[in-house]
Amino acid sequence: MNEEEKKDRGSESYCILCLRPESKAGSLIRMSGEMAICADCMQKSFDMIGQTEGMAMFPGFPPMGDMSFYTAAQTSQAEEGEKIGEAGEEEKKKNSMPTFINLGFPGMGMPQSRPRKKKKKNAPEAGSFQVPVPHRIKAMLDEFVIGQERAKKAIAVAVYNHYKRVRDKSEDEVEIEKSNILMLGPTGCGKTYLVKTLARLLDVPLAITDATSLTEAGYIGDDVESVLSKLLDEADQDVERAEQGIVFIDEIDKLAKKRNTNSRDVSGESVQQGLLKLLEGAEVEVPVGATSKNAMVPMTTINTKNILFICGGAFSELDKIIKERLTKTSSIGFSAELKDRYDGESSLLHKVTPEDLREFGMIPEFLGRLPVICTLDGMSQEMLVDIMTKPKNAIIKQYQKLLALDEVKLSFEPEALTLIAERALERKTGARALRAILEDFMVDIMYEIPKDENIGAVTITKDYLEQKGAPYIELRTVQIKGLEDRME
Ligand code: ADP
Repeated sequence: MNEEEKKDRGSESYCILCLRPESKAGSLIRMSGEMAICADCMQKSFDMIGQTEGMAMFPGFPPMGDMSFYTAAQTSQAEEGEKIGEAGEEEKKKNSMPTFINLGFPGMGMPQSRPRKKKKKNAPEAGSFQVPVPHRIKAMLDEFVIGQERAKKAIAVAVYNHYKRVRDKSEDEVEIEKSNILMLGPTGCGKTYLVKTLARLLDVPLAITDATSLTEAGYIGDDVESVLSKLLDEADQDVERAEQGIVFIDEIDKLAKKRNTNSRDVSGESVQQGLLKLLEGAEVEVPVGATSKNAMVPMTTINTKNILFICGGAFSELDKIIKERLTKTSSIGFSAELKDRYDGESSLLHKVTPEDLREFGMIPEFLGRLPVICTLDGMSQEMLVDIMTKPKNAIIKQYQKLLALDEVKLSFEPEALTLIAERALERKTGARALRAILEDFMVDIMYEIPKDENIGAVTITKDYLEQKGAPYIELRTVQIKGLEDRME
């Protein structure tokens, strides 16, 4: 600062960035620590933030109290500097002073800006993908998801219609409604897996969240809009791509109103309420790169009109409600013998109606926004064996591939596979138990086999799983039975 400037300033306040006195820079915005900034510098800072994705703290600048922070907008611009050449030099000079944002003044939060889109290499343009027809979608799902035929069909149709609706630009009176999906099925039957597979096949971003982690806005936890931040992350901050993505909300049944209780429990119900506008389609302000809103996080707007929402839950005890409804009439008169007609019927969930779900504790408005209801079957022994062996990336195929890299052929006796499935069923966690059980004994195999280069093939036997015998080993030249010594 030269003498003239100092004189100019006198006891006058000055902008801490451009150092102009108030008389020249115009009325200053005052902050904590007797500091002030002029409107021009403030605007410049906001403009830069709009162009900058990350906000690095600016090192070496004096701290200014809790409510203020700096960004080094030049950090990301410097990275791009090489590309922009001479024209960029000009730009860099303009931006070379530290930018400053004051968040302490009412109404002076972060500007609303759409974050710059980062495109993945080869990422398709939003909306550019061709949605396969339902039977193609189902055929693709068949390669990964075992059983669940009805659910796969229903989802294929719903997804096809959803994306047809997204594309529909016609302006007649018929407006196709959103086909959000409610998926019912016991734990470990493939609800999440089905949605993940679907999103991967369609190449659309997918955000998965747990309904139990959601809270009403203002409470500790993630508010409902946080799912959209996740989706935006999955879409690499590309708002357009996020707006055509899928959101999967698991454990939705945990939001049910408590039945048969006098206590006032509204938490789940109010989260259901909070989700209504997202499901329906609304412009929602979401924090970028964070799950909760606060003054330090830039915001963007996402329209949920074309986002497909899939809610899933086990809805345990729902079968009792369905059974009650189905047998209601049977409690009177001659049809009384029908009372236990539905006991033990595993397909009872397929008979679900929105009324049953309402009885369960879901609010009618919420159900109204999930017009497609599909039910997944609980796991049977046969399904579990198929899950281990048939899908493209089946767990046993993965072990086979690992050993094949050591030129060892791995196989399983059919009885061994059945035994694993039986043990998995006992755990009552669906297909999820398979990996844990398999890994438990495969660790010995994977440890021992590479020790001996002569081993060419190994067959896992039921006896081995029951610790009554050994796996069947074939040497590259001769066949011998028994690995007892080594396995013990
Ligand atoms: P949930 O129904 O509780 O969401 P998941 O979808 O998470 O269950 O299933 C757990 C794991 O079990 C999946 O990662 C997948 O590997 C396997 N799995 C479950 N169901 C199936 C299925 N029908 N076909 C193939 N694999 C399945």
